[in-house]
Amino acid sequence: MWQVNNDGYYGEFGGAYIPEMLFQNIENLRGNYLQIISSDSFQKEFQLLLRDYVGRPTPLFKADRLSDQLGTNIYLKREDLCHTGAHKINNAIGQILLAQALGKKRIIAETGAGQHGVATATVCALKGLECIVYMGAEDMQRQAPNVARMRLLGAKVIPVLSGSKTLKDATNEAIRDWISNPDDTYYLIGSVVGPHPYPDMVARFQSVISHEIKSQLLAATGNENPDYVIACVGGGSNAAGAFFHFLENKKINLIAVEASGQGIHSGKSAATTQLGSIGILHGSKSLVMQTKDGQVTEPYSISAGLDYPGIGPMHAHLYTSGRATFLSATDQEALSAAYELARLEGIIPALESAHALAALSQISFRPQDVVVVNLSGRGDKDMAAYENLYEPELQ
Ligand SMILES: *Cc1c(COP(=O)(O)O)cnc(C)c1O
Repeated sequence: MWQVNNDGYYGEFGGAYIPEMLFQNIENLRGNYLQIISSDSFQKEFQLLLRDYVGRPTPLFKADRLSDQLGTNIYLKREDLCHTGAHKINNAIGQILLAQALGKKRIIAETGAGQHGVATATVCALKGLECIVYMGAEDMQRQAPNVARMRLLGAKVIPVLSGSKTLKDATNEAIRDWISNPDDTYYLIGSVVGPHPYPDMVARFQSVISHEIKSQLLAATGNENPDYVIACVGGGSNAAGAFFHFLENKKINLIAVEASGQGIHSGKSAATTQLGSIGILHGSKSLVMQTKDGQVTEPYSISAGLDYPGIGPMHAHLYTSGRATFLSATDQEALSAAYELARLEGIIPALESAHALAALSQISFRPQDVVVVNLSGRGDKDMAAYENLYEPELQ
């Protein structure tokens, strides 16, 4: 009941709200994706690349010093150890194989922080496919190292100069491109967002995370089910992957953590479930941060990957149904959590993942609880933020 239904909906959320011109493309995807991705040949290559290229399975690490401090049992799912430094590559590999199976030669993507652009450029290089990434001109300046990475990997990064020159403008350009090039082009989306079947497709590719957690927990504790699974939510792909195989077991607490930026009501936040209302964003019906007359509002978070004005339809459903608990962490709380993990465990998390860690102090755990935190990425990309905002009292 938590998975997408035949019409492409999670409860009242989802669907495919797309321009007429894209109907054929989406219909083609919808009609073929399940059959392609469950075929033996697809699965064989997908699993091989996840193992030998991405480096899976990623470890499930018992964080002893952090566990002691919190008086419970904390396990970290180490997506930070994936090739390219985050979970996004799992989905990019899945979709590039799908694009190949559909005979597409040209890959387009949009990117905000540049992380999805880098993952897309990486898999296009791997497969020798043309790669075009749309990116807001403002974001290109803020995320210059990722622009350099994409270019080094052979991608063409096209600056988008319209609107606020950020992610939503880049999305519009990518969709415009797809409308003009429907036959040879595949649109590679980076999170559990977009028109059906993208959210389901991305969730399935990322579900390898909870699949591995189950067998790793069984080996470590004798029980494949944890008491809690905690993940940060931008669009929601790492959380969808970490929750996927636990959705039906209501005894397992699923905790999604959004970025509240400088405070939920500060006007500088990205806490969609707290501030959003039902609307259409990026081709699906979900919760969206918008003004009363439906203008999408510019989100804010110190973490570029959580700086998104919506959440995927699966998460909107998990929120409104109460199946998952949605918490939030501010910039400052995330920074403190990152410092703490660095000092207690010798692991520098991505700023996004630090939001999931920050939620640990908002929950009262029992000593026997088993808590899995999905460490979605590593912190190398965030060193500038960590250095600039250094807290002297922790020195
Ligand atoms: C992009 C990103 C996120 C947010 O995206 P989701 O789709 O919500 O997972 C989280 N963590 C890292 C490290 C990212 O790069």
